[in-house]
Amino acid sequence: MKTKKVLLATLAISSMFALAACSGGSGDSGSGDKGGDGGLIGVAMPTKSSERWIQDGDAVKKQLEDQGFKVDLQYAEDDIPTQVSQLENMITKGAEALIIASIDGTTLTQVLQDAADADIPVIAYDRLIRDSENVDYYASFDNYKVGVQQANSILNGLGLVELDGTAKSDAPKGPFNIELFAGSPDDNNATFFWNGAIDTLQPLIDDGTLVVKSGQTDFQQAATLRWDGEVAQSRMEDILTKSYSDGSKVNAVLSPYDGLSRGIISALTDAGYTVGDGWPAISGQDAELDSVKAINSGEQYATIFKDTRNLAKVAVDMATALLNGDKPEVNNTEDYDNGKKVVPSYLLESQIVVKDNINEVLVKSGYWTEAEING
Ligand code: BGC
Repeated sequence: MKTKKVLLATLAISSMFALAACSGGSGDSGSGDKGGDGGLIGVAMPTKSSERWIQDGDAVKKQLEDQGFKVDLQYAEDDIPTQVSQLENMITKGAEALIIASIDGTTLTQVLQDAADADIPVIAYDRLIRDSENVDYYASFDNYKVGVQQANSILNGLGLVELDGTAKSDAPKGPFNIELFAGSPDDNNATFFWNGAIDTLQPLIDDGTLVVKSGQTDFQQAATLRWDGEVAQSRMEDILTKSYSDGSKVNAVLSPYDGLSRGIISALTDAGYTVGDGWPAISGQDAELDSVKAINSGEQYATIFKDTRNLAKVAVDMATALLNGDKPEVNNTEDYDNGKKVVPSYLLESQIVVKDNINEVLVKSGYWTEAEING
């Protein structure tokens, strides 16, 4: 503990020098010059196969460099041993803090112990790291609410509720056929999304407005290991063959991530569904460019926008505060129990995006340009 305090104090002083150097007028000299005094921060991201993590990595790196830190940014292509050895490497190189978006939230216990032994603070980025005492802070979104928004977005697509979940007075009676997809079971977020969505959908399943024809209503049945779009595609194909070959149609699909939604869309297209009449309302998450285009063309009904630039800022502020010996700002100290402790968290708000508000939410905030969306 003592060594940690001395280390933090030393780091605080060196960070102050780094910050002073930044604001001293030589800020245009490029990141190469200013990084030294700020020390090295390790940033571990899960995969480049999803656009959102590339944007997260870029935003965290840029914001840390703007603060005068050096950054070791690594992607592990969804391979757990690769992520573990990347983290070991960062520790060996003398990283002063680690910002980690884990692949499997339960597999980092040993490497985080090594980080703790070297007095390196750890910030869990977007995904909670489980089963370890050595997670200092958690930066994320209100993940339960993301699930509620995903459910409300498809209920809105069916004409049942407003986007905020208020029932519509002229709502059709149904019944509507719905199929349910969940994220990767080793990602702590997946159950939060699922619980938020199911709590919202369950009353309508119970009163018969929604019917899950496949009967697959358990998280384990709906889960999609590693958030893999191809796995979702083949599960959707299977469901269509087994439960809809009597000529009935799927009217809505709960999908927790744009990459899964794209797989589901392919399965529907291959089965002869066409956009327009009889095309189901499909949800998503992350506002990935291809999916925003799919919302524009009517293939996907909605996505959930989580501004990665703001999330990066929360994580960078946490790291900076820790290295300055300050207490990072948090707004939740209850909900994120990782099995060993409740990790103090800062949770951001997310937004539903449908065709009508693409411009308002995504273009005006500078997340995507109109040219990118229409290109
Ligand atoms: C993130 C989501 C993302 C999913 C798949 C989750 O942990 O919170 O934003 O869609 O991983 O990458």
